[in-house]
Amino acid sequence: MRAGPPRTLAPVPMMDTDVLIVGAGPTGLMLANQLGRRGIRALIIDRHSGPAQQSRAMGVQARTLEIYSQLGIAGRALELGRRGTAANMWANGRHTARIPIGDIGRNLSPFPCILMLGQDDNEQIMGDKLRDWGLAVQWNTELIAMAQHPERVAVTLRLPDGANQEISAAWVAGCDGARSSVREMCGITFPGAPYEHVFFVADTEATGDMVAEELNVYLWNKGFHLFFPMRGKDRWRVIGILPPELRGRDDLTFDDVIPCLRQEAGIRLSFASCSWYSTYRIHHRSATRFREQRCFLLGDAAHVHSPMGAQGMNTGLQDAYNLAWKLALVIKGQAGVQLLESYEQERVPVARRLLNTTDRAFMLVVADNWLARLFRTWIMARVAAIGMRFNCIRQLAFRTVSQIGIQYRGSDLSQTLPGL
Ligand SMILES: Cc1cc2nc3c(=O)[nH]c(=O)nc-3n(C[C@H](O)[C@H](O)[C@H](O)COP(=O)(O)OP(=O)(O)OC[C@H]3O[C@@H](n4cnc5c(N)ncnc54)[C@H](O)[C@@H]3O)c2cc1C
Repeated sequence: MRAGPPRTLAPVPMMDTDVLIVGAGPTGLMLANQLGRRGIRALIIDRHSGPAQQSRAMGVQARTLEIYSQLGIAGRALELGRRGTAANMWANGRHTARIPIGDIGRNLSPFPCILMLGQDDNEQIMGDKLRDWGLAVQWNTELIAMAQHPERVAVTLRLPDGANQEISAAWVAGCDGARSSVREMCGITFPGAPYEHVFFVADTEATGDMVAEELNVYLWNKGFHLFFPMRGKDRWRVIGILPPELRGRDDLTFDDVIPCLRQEAGIRLSFASCSWYSTYRIHHRSATRFREQRCFLLGDAAHVHSPMGAQGMNTGLQDAYNLAWKLALVIKGQAGVQLLESYEQERVPVARRLLNTTDRAFMLVVADNWLARLFRTWIMARVAAIGMRFNCIRQLAFRTVSQIGIQYRGSDLSQTLPGL
């Protein structure tokens, strides 16, 4: 078993920053905002030259909207996004069920549905909010080396002009994605494996039999396709897995996948344009630990999994929310460093559970045997539609997917102190 971090750390000398946040994706931006609103000095850097332009993650869950609301940015997100009103299930080219989800979380959250809003918009909203705390992302700045000392972390940054700069940070937050340098520099392993399947994503302008402004799910013999409505007329985010015969080709364009989309979504499906197309191989991995002394891992740096259930970006945002208030109290001297142990204690089990559930769900929708094909194309949509008529099942589904059901009853912080 790993020896836990020391329960008391040496006193903090003069620092360049209290928290160095490496990575300005959604996780890093949320952490910077949560620290900023508590008056903590944070430096947020990213090696890219500016915010990502691709939409990537699309689903914003209720629990994320709740923390957006605390930051005062939920209104902007709701204004820009589209509320998920219903999921239309299609199998073998036929519309098999419509599952209303518009108020599925009524009485459970002030935000009772999933919001469809691209990751780029989420990053923009959180990036703009940083100004309120006097913070801004330092772009073109890369973490290249790091050494941990009992009382600080000595960090080497490569600056936009190519020069190196040494700084001291009391704490380092690795929000630097699946290929995290912080994780590597801490010597933390990232066990897991890639799936054999290759995903494609495309932001398109399309017309066809899809039910307008609602989610359309196509289940077919070899897998699935999803059509998410995006902001603007006839704009759809299309996600699916590449048919086996197209895997392994690195010259693919969106035109190559259109025939298999038409096969399932009907010949009336027509694409006027495609503004972004990408393929990616997904992995399921979780870091063996989320902390090494004064460094923490959050978001994709700590866990990656299949995009089933739109959990990836949301989980990173919740990691940041969980760590921020604890770091703030410790930095202000209002809590001992032991408080920080609860970050791993609370978030590691969430990540492990997520990996298991998304893995099982993913295998169900891609499994390539006759029983799975039968289940996918004949049974799944009907069972889901019938099940979702029952309030208890709707509530369970919402609590699970929206992340509002996550609780930390097993955490040391939830234990009653003797004598109380
Ligand atoms: C094509 C694609 C489609 C996706 N679709 C979905 C989806 O539909 N639903 C879903 O939930 N998830 C989806 N995801 C996953 C989702 O995008 C991630 O879960 C999310 O981006 C994680 O956010 P993050 O901030 O933890 O990491 P990232 O977004 O990866 O951000 C990490 C940042 O760290 C920076 N960085 C890295 N190393 C350094 C360094 N040494 N110094 C300085 N900066 C550094 C990078 O430049 C980057 O900006 C998708 C991902 C991809 C690639």
